[in-house]
Amino acid sequence: MKESDMIDHRRLGRDLELFASDPLAGAGLPIWLPAGAAARHAVEEYVRELERRNGYRHVYSPPLGRRELFERSGHLGYFADDMFPPMRLSADDEFLLRPALCPHHALVFAARGRSYRELPLRVAELGGMYRAERSGVLGGLSRVRAISLNDAHNFCALEQVGDEVREILRLIREAHAALGVRPAGFRLSLRGPGEKYVGDDAQWARAEELLRAALDGMDYTEAPGEAAFYGPKIDVQIVDAAGRESTLSTVQLDFDKPERFDLSYTDPSGARRRPVMVHRSLVGSMERLFAYLIEVHAGAFPAWYAPVQLVLLPVDDGQADAAYELARRAEAAGLRVEVDLAGSLGARIRDAARRRTPYAGVVGAREAADGSVSLRLRDGRGLDPMPVAAALGLIGAVVAARSPDLLPTDHAQLPTVVCRGSGSAV
Ligand SMILES: [Zn+2]
Repeated sequence: MKESDMIDHRRLGRDLELFASDPLAGAGLPIWLPAGAAARHAVEEYVRELERRNGYRHVYSPPLGRRELFERSGHLGYFADDMFPPMRLSADDEFLLRPALCPHHALVFAARGRSYRELPLRVAELGGMYRAERSGVLGGLSRVRAISLNDAHNFCALEQVGDEVREILRLIREAHAALGVRPAGFRLSLRGPGEKYVGDDAQWARAEELLRAALDGMDYTEAPGEAAFYGPKIDVQIVDAAGRESTLSTVQLDFDKPERFDLSYTDPSGARRRPVMVHRSLVGSMERLFAYLIEVHAGAFPAWYAPVQLVLLPVDDGQADAAYELARRAEAAGLRVEVDLAGSLGARIRDAARRRTPYAGVVGAREAADGSVSLRLRDGRGLDPMPVAAALGLIGAVVAARSPDLLPTDHAQLPTVVCRGSGSAV
C-alpha cells in the first residue's frame, strides 16, 4: 500500500468517524459526523474570534437568491457553467443557489449610506455556497458541491488597498500557524487570454500592480489564466498527500462589483466615491481545509481542535464513579471528554491512541482514593499520577495556547510530570 493511501483523508475520515458520504444524499454532499463537527466547530470559533479581534463584522445571509441578484453580480454571465440550474417558483420568480457570497455582501455595504470613516468595512461570514461540480471530479471533502466558505469582503478606499492586502496576508499566516497548515507557496493569479473576464485593461493593470506591491519581498509564482473573472488574486497553495495542488487561502481585488451594485461612500469633501472590494478567505472552505488537516496531521489534530480531548479509563468498575466525576469537572472546564468502560484497559488505551485522542486519563484504585489521575499521551508517553486539578490545568494550558505539542512548554517545571519515553507514535 502506498503512503498516500495510508493518509488519504477519505480513509481516515471514515476510520475516525469524522464525516460520511452516502449515495442516497448525493455525491459531493458529505455529512459531518459528531467527531468531525466538533473539530470543525472549534476551528470555526477560532477563525471568528481571530476576525473579530481584527476589525471584522460578521453577518448571516441566505445561500440562495433571486436570479436578478446573480445577473447583477455578473455570475450568470461569467460563471453560469459552475452553477446549479435555476429553481422556478413562477414564470417571473426564479431562484439560484449562490456560487459565492459576494453578491449578498455587496448588499450589506449598500444597506445604508457609507462614510469614508467606516472604511475599510470588513464584512465576514462563514457561509454556504454551491458549485455544480461534475460527479467525476468529486472526492471526500476536497472537492464538494456544498461549500462552507470562510469568507469576507473588505470595502476600502483605493489608497487603503495596499495596507489592507498586507494585513490580510498577515492574518493568513497567523491562522495557518495555529492550524498547522504548511503552504506550498504563494501564487499571483493573473488574467489569461479569452473573453471570460470583466472590466477594462486599466482596472486589471492597477489591481495587478497593487497585488505585486503587497507581495514585495515574498517568494511567489505567477499563474496566467488563474484569475477570478472580476480581477487578479493572490492564492495560497497547498498540496495534498497524493501530490495534488489546490488553493486554500485567497485575496482578490475587484473593481467591477462595486460598479455593478453602484456602491459608494462619502469622502471627506462630501463627494461620492466608489470603494474597492477585496474578496478574501483566510483558511478557505471548511471542507477543503479539513481534507488537508486530516492528511497533514494523519488524523492526530492539535489538542485544541481534537474531537475528544480526554478519554477517561477507569481500571475497573470500582472506579467508574470517580471517572464520571472527573469527566464532569473536565466538561465544566470546557474540555471535550468521554468515559470508556468497555474492554480491557490495554485495549482501551490502544483504542484511544487509534482514535488519536490526545490524552487518556487512567483512574485506578489509588487514583480514585486520592483524587488523582495518570495521563497517557497518544504518542505513547505517560505521566506519573497527578492531582485532577493539575491534570485539567495541564490540558487546559495546551488547549488555550493552541499548541501543536501535548505538554505545556514549562512542563519540565511541574514536579509531578515525568516522561517515560515515547512509544507508538501515530
Ligand atoms: Zn467574494
